[in-house]
Amino acid sequence: MALTFDDGPWPGATPAVLEILAHEGVRATFFWIGQQLERYPDLARQVVTEGHAVGNHTYSHRSAASPLEVAAQEIERTSALIERVTGVRTTLFRPPGGHLENGLVKYALERGYVVVMWSALSGDTDPKYSAAEIVNNVLGRVRAGSIVLLHDGGGDRSRTLAALPELIERLRAEGYRFVTVPQLLESGEVDTHPWATTGP
Ligand SMILES: [Zn+2]
Repeated sequence: MALTFDDGPWPGATPAVLEILAHEGVRATFFWIGQQLERYPDLARQVVTEGHAVGNHTYSHRSAASPLEVAAQEIERTSALIERVTGVRTTLFRPPGGHLENGLVKYALERGYVVVMWSALSGDTDPKYSAAEIVNNVLGRVRAGSIVLLHDGGGDRSRTLAALPELIERLRAEGYRFVTVPQLLESGEVDTHPWATTGP
């Protein structure tokens, strides 16, 4: 299974997530917002240096309808930033909010990106869930090949950080191994949830 973290790089939360992942020996996948990457390039480099995979999550976290030129700007500008800052040429795209019909996914697929959604929602951006409930949300939804949606950016991530060590330990106790999204795609064992991935 693959843990994924969206909306960073984010001061405070991203280094804290990295510390937990390093301590647990887990590699994950981070979907970055271009304008955050511009602000915090050192955090981005740290993510890549520590062996995690990265993907494109648009420049401005745009979820509104996006005509071709806007979609191109959002996606190309972010991929160029990722390459300039970290040297990584990513082919992974995750649409903000999971919106599939606003023009961004259409553009990404035409450009050869793999659109990576998720199959196990943690609910970590919903303030109604405690850290313990975030853990239980994932454990109740995960299966072999799952892609789990978490966040290191976008606001106060204290509940995500509180949940993460226990989440990893309980998943490991259930026999799961943690891989990056590219590793999961290569293995061919990504779960069959229809939104998990689409594209070429
Ligand atoms: Zn997002």
